Amino acid sequence: MSQPASASRRRPVVISGPSGVGKGTLCQKLLEAHPEALSTTVSHTTRKPRPGEVEGETYYFVSKEKFESLVASRSFVEYAAFNDNFYGTSKQTIIDQTTKGSTIILDIEMEGVKQLKQELSKKNSQINPRFVFIKPPSLETLEVRLRGRGTEDEGSIQRRLAQARAEIAYAESGVHDRIIVNQDVEEAFKQLEDFIFDKT
Ligand code: 5GP
Repeated sequence: MSQPASASRRRPVVISGPSGVGKGTLCQKLLEAHPEALSTTVSHTTRKPRPGEVEGETYYFVSKEKFESLVASRSFVEYAAFNDNFYGTSKQTIIDQTTKGSTIILDIEMEGVKQLKQELSKKNSQINPRFVFIKPPSLETLEVRLRGRGTEDEGSIQRRLAQARAEIAYAESGVHDRIIVNQDVEEAFKQLEDFIFDKT
């Protein structure tokens, strides 16, 4: 399938937004619709797999000790603690996906976004992404979605909601290239697609 050529086409796209906002679904839809043009990184996490998640596809599931040793050996371009677990994007996963020749989609939370922004300000920055924020129509809708997922206990839901407030406030400070409200998944998907392929 031919895609419109443009200077920003090959820049990685960082998709962030509160847990439960539907980022995962949107990323999945993007990859299914554009398997040749897009690919995603596989992050490391210390969180336990949820039902259906696949080692090496959804995440690399590792122990806290292993994660710490990867941090010590500077294996990550960014990493963060989220809801009592660690998550990080390895340099290797960026290399793996870049060599496929596709545009990389990264699904990461706010601290990782901040680190990548800092990295960008360095002279020899290894990565120069564009940043999209997926916003829920309201915090109430987000809470309903998080509960509906049925994978989190009450503490985890409350921590994710508190984190969501912080992420939305950060996005409102104007750091992203695009903010997309996920009111309707098809509409949000179209807006995301248009942004990635520079139609808007
Ligand atoms: P979950 O536990 O729901 O899979 O992910 C929790 C949060 O971690 C999500 O907001 C997701 O975007 C974020 N996340 C996943 N992988 C990474 C990563 O490699 N780095 C960072 N900073 N956040 C990540």
